[in-house]
Amino acid sequence: MAEYSAFSLLKNALNGNRDWKQAWRKPDPKPSYEVIVVGGGGHGLATAYYLAREHGIANVAVLEKGWLGSGNVGRNTTAVRSNYLLPQNSRFYEHSMKLWENLSHELNYNVMFSQRGCLNLAHTPGQLDDYARRGNAMRHEGIDAELMTPAQIERLVPGLDMSASARFPIIGGLMQRRAGTARHDAVAWGYARAADRRGVDIIENCEVTGFLRDGDRVVGVTTTRGEIRASKVAVAVAGHTGHVMKLAGIERLPIESHVLQAFVSESLKPFLHTVITFGMGHFYASQSDKGGLIYGGDLDGYNSYAQRGSLPVMEDVMSEMLALFPSLARVRVLRSWGGVCDMSMDGSPIITTGPLPGMYLNAGWCYGGFKATPASGWCFAHTIARDEPHEFNAAFTLDRFHRGILIDDKGQGSTPRLH
Ligand SMILES: Cc1cc2nc3c(=O)[nH]c(=O)nc-3n(C[C@H](O)[C@H](O)[C@H](O)COP(=O)(O)OP(=O)(O)OC[C@H]3O[C@@H](n4cnc5c(N)ncnc54)[C@H](O)[C@@H]3O)c2cc1C
Repeated sequence: MAEYSAFSLLKNALNGNRDWKQAWRKPDPKPSYEVIVVGGGGHGLATAYYLAREHGIANVAVLEKGWLGSGNVGRNTTAVRSNYLLPQNSRFYEHSMKLWENLSHELNYNVMFSQRGCLNLAHTPGQLDDYARRGNAMRHEGIDAELMTPAQIERLVPGLDMSASARFPIIGGLMQRRAGTARHDAVAWGYARAADRRGVDIIENCEVTGFLRDGDRVVGVTTTRGEIRASKVAVAVAGHTGHVMKLAGIERLPIESHVLQAFVSESLKPFLHTVITFGMGHFYASQSDKGGLIYGGDLDGYNSYAQRGSLPVMEDVMSEMLALFPSLARVRVLRSWGGVCDMSMDGSPIITTGPLPGMYLNAGWCYGGFKATPASGWCFAHTIARDEPHEFNAAFTLDRFHRGILIDDKGQGSTPRLH
């Protein structure tokens, strides 16, 4: 398959763009593979790519029930950061950040990774103390973090209500400058193309409907396109984890599925040059290269598999935006949609062998799985290939919930919708 380059762009432009090849093949499923990855989201595709690249395992099928990008990988608000407090999370997410920094080059696909920074706004002295503590913990791990003054914030983000009479006065913030955004569906397409080039079969419109068992051991799957056998079956279906694991007889998991909405405004002149988060509620925003604001807030708050949300949360998100940027009151919302998030009980993910022999599980991504995509695929591939976790995902076990060793970065307790 041809390399994407300035030269190939020019050649195809002169050629009427007739010679572009399909980015990945459309193979029929083979009767068996070494590894089956269930779920063609960002995590499933990245896993297949790193299995082939890092471990030489290319006899892999990724089974996706819809089309690539139909899940949360194509529905998120694209924020990428590694500003965590606890070392288990900060080491894992910083590994992801380092993979992001070279991803376009590595995949030969422009994922439009833009390190425009991520600023968490603080509105109370207690919150600022908390951010200072998190920033210090990050720096201790070698991750960039800066505490910002109101004057610095005012210069960086024009339009923010910085007055003392603001509904929630801003008294400082925590900035990670290496954080930013990426083009979400390009990440799916880039991993898909790169995995396909290494021999991985990506099979769309192929829903897994059950698991083949030999005693306890999982030895393959039944699908809408027939039975497929495999030595190892890895599940990476994000919001559908509960549903898919039930097909294997696993009835209870420390995960709830919730709807999370995203919104896009009409195009505005560039004014928001960083990702920004509100400290007194749940609101985050960035501005796309086309000028639209991309923003979101809280979960809808009830369990659901629907990919659309409800009006009260929409109203809540808009009111939080206006508390920060009163001048946006007349901006029109162009689009909104929802995605199904796999909320774990402690807000941290699960990347593990099991829970059945021959099976591997990747889940619990909550609000934040997009930024994890490279490290999640990298660590999951390691776990599948070697039957043991990498040090970066060693803590992300399933039995930590049973043993009470939670990784609760926000200190919210075991209420999944709060993470
Ligand atoms: C509105 C919204 C905003 C978000 N914003 C951010 C953000 O700014 N930053 C961030 O880091 N994260 C964000 N996230 C979270 C992030 O998008 C997810 O955590 C992450 O994409 C989940 O991993 P994935 O890409 O593999 O999931 P998905 O893309 O959902 O992949 C799972 C795939 O499994 C497939 N599947 C399900 N069941 C089956 C089956 N039976 N057989 C075969 N295939 C099946 C699905 O069709 C789907 O394609 C956001 C999420 C939402 C919804």
